[in-house]
Amino acid sequence: MSDQRILIVEDDLDIANVLRMDLGDAGYAVDHADTAMNGLIKAREDHPDLILLDLGLPDFDGGDVVQRLRKNNAVPIIVLTARDTVDEKVRLLGLGADDYLIKPFHPDELLARVKVQLRQRTSESLSMGELTLDPHKRLVTYKGAELRLSPKEFDILALLIRQPGRVYSRNEIGQEIWQGRLPDGSNVVDVHMANLRAKLRDLDGYGLLRTVRGVGYALRG
Ligand code: CA
Repeated sequence: MSDQRILIVEDDLDIANVLRMDLGDAGYAVDHADTAMNGLIKAREDHPDLILLDLGLPDFDGGDVVQRLRKNNAVPIIVLTARDTVDEKVRLLGLGADDYLIKPFHPDELLARVKVQLRQRTSESLSMGELTLDPHKRLVTYKGAELRLSPKEFDILALLIRQPGRVYSRNEIGQEIWQGRLPDGSNVVDVHMANLRAKLRDLDGYGLLRTVRGVGYALRG
């Protein structure tokens, strides 16, 4: 059994019950909210480890819910949507969703996606020199000062710090952090790396993040 808790925000009770059973059978503790407002309240008060969020809710659009959650909460969010368009996917990821599933989906796919998101959040504290990263608390410090990162910047740093010195290509980072869902030719990875570098530099961490021209990125190990 797992002690990890998943909040389902879904107004269709048939779908919610199926999700509850699938996730319960897999050992997760499951809670359910049937409106966006209830979902936001439960997210704030109960601190779930992951949120499954339906986009078509009776009170708010799911995209608004993602945005509101992201203001003060780094919980992994997997969006459930029937809208299968590239624009919609890019919009959701841009708002701060971690992943999405297109309805209808297979329970095995759901469980696989949930596992990936939870695994990225629950490992031990990592460090490289004076840089430390606590995946559970979502906390990064350099020389004792806190580095304030967006959820994706945090995930990228968490990836790089596992193997300092190893060069990750833009494509690998896209695969790991966005599950390969960035459109071809997207500069999203570069934008995030530039932001991450600027934040490190502000804390005197100049040169910690290397760009290997034409290859990718690495932490200076
Ligand atoms: Ca719905």
